[in-house]
Amino acid sequence: MASVQDSRAVRVRFGAGAVEALRAELEILGWRHAFIVATPGRGALTAKVRALLGELAAAVFDGAAPHTPATATAAALERLPAGADCLVSLGGGSAIGLAKAVALETGLPIAAVPTTYAGSEMTAIWGASEGGIKHTGRDARVAPRLVIYDPTLTLDLPASVSAASGMNAMAHAVEALYAPNGTPYAAALAEGAIALLASTLPRIVADPRDLAARGDALAGAWLAGSALDHAAMGLHHRLCHVLGGMFGTPHALTHAVLLPHVVDFLAPAAPEAMTRMARALGVPHAPRGLHALVLSLGITTTLADLGLTEDDLERAAGEAAAGAAAHPRPASAGDVRAILRAAWRAA
Ligand code: NAD
Repeated sequence: MASVQDSRAVRVRFGAGAVEALRAELEILGWRHAFIVATPGRGALTAKVRALLGELAAAVFDGAAPHTPATATAAALERLPAGADCLVSLGGGSAIGLAKAVALETGLPIAAVPTTYAGSEMTAIWGASEGGIKHTGRDARVAPRLVIYDPTLTLDLPASVSAASGMNAMAHAVEALYAPNGTPYAAALAEGAIALLASTLPRIVADPRDLAARGDALAGAWLAGSALDHAAMGLHHRLCHVLGGMFGTPHALTHAVLLPHVVDFLAPAAPEAMTRMARALGVPHAPRGLHALVLSLGITTTLADLGLTEDDLERAAGEAAAGAAAHPRPASAGDVRAILRAAWRAA
């Protein structure tokens, strides 16, 4: 089947210490007044970047939060300094999500300094939540123009957060393999991402300060985010967004818990994707390989542990099945309920 791909330009600086070049990189792009956005926990990095940027740092807003609540976006827009000509996000997907929400309103370009493996820095996908509903969309204006990947910034990311975040990246790559609009390019990125993440996440859990492993995981996140950018999100992302919007479940952990169960369900309808996934994972059977990987990382494997009740699963199943489907096999409310129940009590 023919496929079409439309790629954008993004400048990427990758390597230990890369953040030191942030000022020079902004100057190359002609940006002089940066509005820095971050999550509250990234205070030390924010102070470091402020010092690095000097007078190029026009203002800082550190109120980013998971799932990009409309209230945080409104607060950031109020703090936007006059004359700001770019946004700099410091932190994981929450910080990048806020920069994207501000970019959507203002058209300002984004420089992203990611410190988790969420991969949002490589996509034109934005998310926003309000009143228990999370909306997502695609808009070229929110795709970062500059990305600085510095593995030294990730050395303190706790093992459990790293593992969950890495499985978030894994989910991007997995869904790109069976997306109806997938391209050979996206599939190659996805296979590369799966192989890197599967081999490196156990190394990070064993030794979170392993700089080489941290570099490999960031490279995996880079490839996975790029794969997601070139493919439609499927059932798995849909379920994660519904649970995150309705119940505020932690984004990365929700991905880690659900992914093996969603792939179990979709596997019969996506044999070629399963072959490629298994090859990249280095296992004979892709869904079982994903189950084993998540178990080996020592993170929770149940939705019950994330605080969901059986009643919550019912509500989520109805909402998730009502959305548009871009997955290899249709999923009724009953199918979704069965997936969620399996993930709720999984061992
Ligand atoms: P996050 O950004 O909320 O970070 C998780 C936690 O880790 C936070 O407490 C943060 O302060 C902390 N942290 C981040 N970097 C750290 C570091 N280096 N050392 C120590 N602690 C660190 O979570 P996330 O999982 O990165 O991102 C989740 C958000 O990103 C969600 O809102 C999700 O919807 C969005 N997302 C969007 C896309 C996209 O393409 N649009 C893709 C993936 C995720």
